[in-house]
Amino acid sequence: MLTIHSEDHRLHHGAAEFYRGRLVPCFEMPSRADQVLDAVRGAGLGPIVAPDRFDRSALTRVHTEDFVAFLETAWDEWSALGETGDALPYAWPAADLRQDVPPDHIDGKLGFYAIDAAVPITAGTWAAVRSSADCALTGARHLTRGAHSAFALCRPPGHHAGARAMGGFCYLNNAAIAAQYLRDHGAARVAVLDVDYHHGNGTQAIFYDRGDVFFASLHGDPRQEYPFFLGHADERGSGAGLGANVNYPLPWGTTGADYLAALDCAIADIAAFGPDSVVISLGVDTFAEDPISHFKLRADDFTAIGQRIASLGRPTLFVMEGGYAVADIGGNVTAVLTGFSG
Ligand SMILES: [Zn+2]
Repeated sequence: MLTIHSEDHRLHHGAAEFYRGRLVPCFEMPSRADQVLDAVRGAGLGPIVAPDRFDRSALTRVHTEDFVAFLETAWDEWSALGETGDALPYAWPAADLRQDVPPDHIDGKLGFYAIDAAVPITAGTWAAVRSSADCALTGARHLTRGAHSAFALCRPPGHHAGARAMGGFCYLNNAAIAAQYLRDHGAARVAVLDVDYHHGNGTQAIFYDRGDVFFASLHGDPRQEYPFFLGHADERGSGAGLGANVNYPLPWGTTGADYLAALDCAIADIAAFGPDSVVISLGVDTFAEDPISHFKLRADDFTAIGQRIASLGRPTLFVMEGGYAVADIGGNVTAVLTGFSG
């Protein structure tokens, strides 16, 4: 299996995030990708290549023009204030506030284009984000050229980013951008399966009213878990997309056996949809030792996840999402990938 990886991910390294009333070091850190890359090498998974550079228009197929423009210039606008620390939002257009008038000031823009404060913007963030999307796009291009699988080692991750919003360590939605690329290059139907611990709210929202991209997610129940405001079982899609969205919210403490039973259901949903290709939002924060999550999966369970995905028998792009038990992230990711490859 080909792995696509860019050293540009190091350009994004937020100093701190809010966690339960305290500023703590960002859980989403460069060593995550280093550990995964080492494990890919150690497992002999296959060649590792740098991403191709794609046109900006591949991004605006799923993100709004104004949002991409915001990401491109946010650091410059922030640093023009004389600030040298990370740019972070502190006010959001929540209930009873206007969501239709973008502010001019960068403090307002940061909240307008974010769902939370877990999205520090640094001097190198845009370059890293752009290269992360290029990794996903290069993997998608690899599939369109006949490959059966690829692994886009994306960092920063993407599945919490919506068409017009960053959040949860995510800026551009790499999986959604890749799925759209596959649609634009020969695949009539694409399925996105999100196995990250957290609901892929951004991906769901991007494709919610479309019948050509199926979205299935297994995740911590939003009644208990971030992102809290999307990911319930009754969200089935709308309009042409009705029936093309399926959520499996699971309680804290979910074991590997319970998880794999739900995954079997999601796999059956996807098989019934009949996609030409599959995109996996591959988070391994379902791991029992993950510092911010509450499922109980072990290493063997990740192998089983890969085997079940392989049972679909479709060209498959794996896109790296979450996983914060840094010492174990590489082994858990390669367990999924080698499980898939057999
Ligand atoms: Zn996650």
